[in-house]
Amino acid sequence: MKIPFFFLLVFVISLKPLPAQKPASNFVLVIHGGAGTIKFDPAQPDKQKKYEAELTKALQIGYDTLSKNATALDAAEVVVRYLEDCPLFNAGKGAVFTSKGTNELDAAIMDGSTLKAGAIAGVTTIKNPITTARAVMEKSNHVLLMGKGAEEFAKENKQVMVNPKYFYTEERWQALQMAKKDAEKKTVKQTTTPVTEPNIAVLQPENKDYKYGTVGAVVLDKFGNLAAATSTGGMTNKKYGRVGDVPIIGAGTYANNNTCAISCTGWGEYFIRLVMAKSLSDLMEYKNLSIDEAAKEMIHHKLPDLGGDGGLIGVDKNGNITMQFNSTGMYRGYIKSTGEKMVAVFK
Ligand code: ASP
Repeated sequence: MKIPFFFLLVFVISLKPLPAQKPASNFVLVIHGGAGTIKFDPAQPDKQKKYEAELTKALQIGYDTLSKNATALDAAEVVVRYLEDCPLFNAGKGAVFTSKGTNELDAAIMDGSTLKAGAIAGVTTIKNPITTARAVMEKSNHVLLMGKGAEEFAKENKQVMVNPKYFYTEERWQALQMAKKDAEKKTVKQTTTPVTEPNIAVLQPENKDYKYGTVGAVVLDKFGNLAAATSTGGMTNKKYGRVGDVPIIGAGTYANNNTCAISCTGWGEYFIRLVMAKSLSDLMEYKNLSIDEAAKEMIHHKLPDLGGDGGLIGVDKNGNITMQFNSTGMYRGYIKSTGEKMVAVFK
């Protein structure tokens, strides 16, 4: 009896052992909720726990998203969106106030697989700036849109718009009043050189106590792609349409599949001057430093040498994590595909 060739082939193939199942690649998510002079407030003993609980929720949302094969970009956006909606953080709802009593938000997102990036600055009516930053990246020919133009773009692209009052929180409002009082005191003390208008350098040191709460996420997905996302209300009492490091690609936010994904938080002017996130990536690419060595060089040497403070989170293409800061604290955490996770505030 002649056996048809097709059946013979199927028989021979079925004798071969099944190829070993490809091990599921690992993913890593690292988040921050801002760095600064974080003090334990005896009047609100549960406050730290509340922050930690929100960070833990954000990590879980990211974990669930990444487990369903989402890309690094999707996870970074989803996690930052969650933190923007949480009034504890200085991003979206809960953003700090400008000297005029308004909330002006900055955000950026970057895709390490394409080096595409999108950012918005100084917006007042966009509920989730990170989502609009992503829309800038994917639906426009530009990288950074600001103010009214960014809002016009957001409306055209069906972003959720809100009344500026949506961003109000009592705590941030009180922080503005305190920052203003401190700024006045500082101005009065400057008797040798008359200061008619306090400049930002004069105001900054006081700001350290009021500004923390910027949020960020960096992700390595199962497919080996990196992404970074950062969102902020900036610094309390900021003036003149001040824009910080967050929406400046390479300063506060950067991702490159060849090196790492970085999201920064801290005194933005210094992060811009140091081109913080890209400099760190360059130390890895051109000097072969590990992500942790590069982060330590930038945060514990270059940043304090200039007089700045803050921190950053990062993940490299192999899933190594860094979380460095030179302030008293940084709200931070990570989760890995193995389920290993941690959340911390102080050193
Ligand atoms: N880096 C932000 C800014 O300067 C503030 C912060 O991270 O706390 O706008």
